[in-house]
Amino acid sequence: MKITRIETFQVPPRWLFCRVETDDGVVGWGEPVVEGRAEVVRAAVDVLAEYLVGQDPLRIQDHWQVLTKGGFYRGGPVLSSAVAGLDQALWDIAGKTYGAPVHALLGGPVRERVRVYAWVGGDEPAELGEQIAAQVEAGFTAVKMNGAGVTSPIATAAETAAVVERVAAAREVLGPGRDVAVDFHGRFTAASARRVLAELAPLHPLFVEEPVLPEHGHLLPGLVEASPVPLATGERLYSRAEFLPALTAGIAVAQPDLSHAGGITEVHRIASLADTYGAQLAPHCPLGPIALAASLQVAFATPNFLIQEQSRGIHYNKDADLLSYLADPTPFRFVDGHATRNDAPGLGITLDEAAVRSADRAGHAWRNPVWRHADDSFAEW
Ligand SMILES: [Mg+2]
Repeated sequence: MKITRIETFQVPPRWLFCRVETDDGVVGWGEPVVEGRAEVVRAAVDVLAEYLVGQDPLRIQDHWQVLTKGGFYRGGPVLSSAVAGLDQALWDIAGKTYGAPVHALLGGPVRERVRVYAWVGGDEPAELGEQIAAQVEAGFTAVKMNGAGVTSPIATAAETAAVVERVAAAREVLGPGRDVAVDFHGRFTAASARRVLAELAPLHPLFVEEPVLPEHGHLLPGLVEASPVPLATGERLYSRAEFLPALTAGIAVAQPDLSHAGGITEVHRIASLADTYGAQLAPHCPLGPIALAASLQVAFATPNFLIQEQSRGIHYNKDADLLSYLADPTPFRFVDGHATRNDAPGLGITLDEAAVRSADRAGHAWRNPVWRHADDSFAEW
């Protein structure tokens, strides 16, 4: 079997899909994207396709080596995400060829269902009570929210109190038997994070995510030491090597993104590495259906898995949502806040190819907002 063609589709709301075709007629799908930089990753996929076309798609491990390291310069969000999407498509082809779901090829399922959480509150969280109540009503046992919008470098007393009040309001709706995770999104400095984490502790968040920016990872050990709340990070880390210092620092939850951190091949290895530190895996996935399908395949095969992010109804999904490009939405029909094991071959989803092709013609130019502090200086989004 040989790869004959690789195509990309830039589809709303902000996604990029790739389609890898073989001379046997087997087709694999992947989602190589960096949110806000889809066109750039598309160009990177085109360059990597020069190597892949003509190759045997089943030599995934070898292709991963060449795609990741063969260009001498390596890593970073763009190149790692391009490899990630192609890697997902190769696993999809392998599963379809062997007649097995990807989780079977990774060693077989270790669980029957995967807990997922829903997003509430948007970029600048305000009134959350009704949204959380709706997610509880829909069966979810966990939600995630942003801690705050624009935040001063040293959060004011009012800003700090507002974060705590928001999480307290969430806790009130959720009760003690459900979970709330809080995303700091790198908007807090380590000094602010330290102060807020202590105040959040009595509200028992499942975890606090990106308590500091990835480039301040050297501050993580001190923050873990000081924090009574489990800390999570990883959506902006792209390899085992980049996770190693965070795991050594003692993060509780590793959050590689299946579409950023080298795909199924590398995230499977990151999960094993996390296991050696007693850390849990919670893949980042505010993305589309292929990224989620890939995440779920890893989740079904990973013992130290905690919970899965998914984007249904997320604030970014304006012109299309998680189910828009699926021929059959069954794999993402969550029951009691869980995805049920699906033994369909490959990634376990069937795309509506006509819908994908048509959406690509419309395209998108999604960019994240650029935020400013009150004095007009740049603020982290
Ligand atoms: Mg996040």
